[in-house]
Amino acid sequence: MSVEELKQTVSKLQERIAHLEKKTGIIPNVPKSIRAILIGPPGCGKGTQSENLKKQFCACHLSTGDMLRAQVAAKTELGIAAKKIMDQGGLVSDEIMVNMIKNELNNNKDCSKGFILDGFPRTIPQAEKLDDMLGENKKPLQSAIEFKIDDELLVARITGRLIHPSSGRSYHKIFSPPKKEMTDDITGEPLIQRSDDNEASLKKRLGTYHSMTEPIVGYYKKTGIWKGIDASQKPPKVWSDILKCLGQN
Ligand code: AMP
Repeated sequence: MSVEELKQTVSKLQERIAHLEKKTGIIPNVPKSIRAILIGPPGCGKGTQSENLKKQFCACHLSTGDMLRAQVAAKTELGIAAKKIMDQGGLVSDEIMVNMIKNELNNNKDCSKGFILDGFPRTIPQAEKLDDMLGENKKPLQSAIEFKIDDELLVARITGRLIHPSSGRSYHKIFSPPKKEMTDDITGEPLIQRSDDNEASLKKRLGTYHSMTEPIVGYYKKTGIWKGIDASQKPPKVWSDILKCLGQN
């Protein structure tokens, strides 16, 4: 196929998609690009909804937890140090995390179309540094979406969670099991249970979330880009609420 033919096909597909969006009314006024962060405690569904957003906007999904777990798996110096902190439910230093995200935002080509940050920022200094770095590129954050959910609901979600390490795809032993036991539906690769997905670690991670991360909600309420959604609902309803709140942009 020539470049010209390819362009025509892409243009026809874009028209068709726009037509279907209008006809179904499923996606009212959703902006064409996205620069968003997702805030919420462990197990609130950020990872699942990040995947939806990534597909919807052809944007990149940056999960700092996934990046750290890749370092742990590769047994790098950072990975070895980070694993201890992660298992104890603490936070890796702001400096390391800010540099990690800066590197991705500056060098990952997919991020030029937009990005969804999942698990970053997790402290006020990280939020301030993120604003500085996006301000330099004149592409400020558009949305900070808070996933609101009671702690009590998270124990069952976390202790049954299964992960496909290389994609970050998640399942649940009871609520959303894979087609074949302990196997990723898409790649057929094995699933794992995260070493910090147990009740003792979760308790500490929730404590860290409330003391260190929740204050960023106030930070984004002040800047005017905060949006809150009820994350205790089923994933399709959470997804439609996210689209609704993005549509109000
Ligand atoms: P997550 O997969 O987002 O639940 O992250 C797993 C763990 O990685 C957290 O409990 C922290 O120990 C660490 N971590 C991930 N993101 C950050 C961050 N932005 N700042 C500090 N530590 C982080």
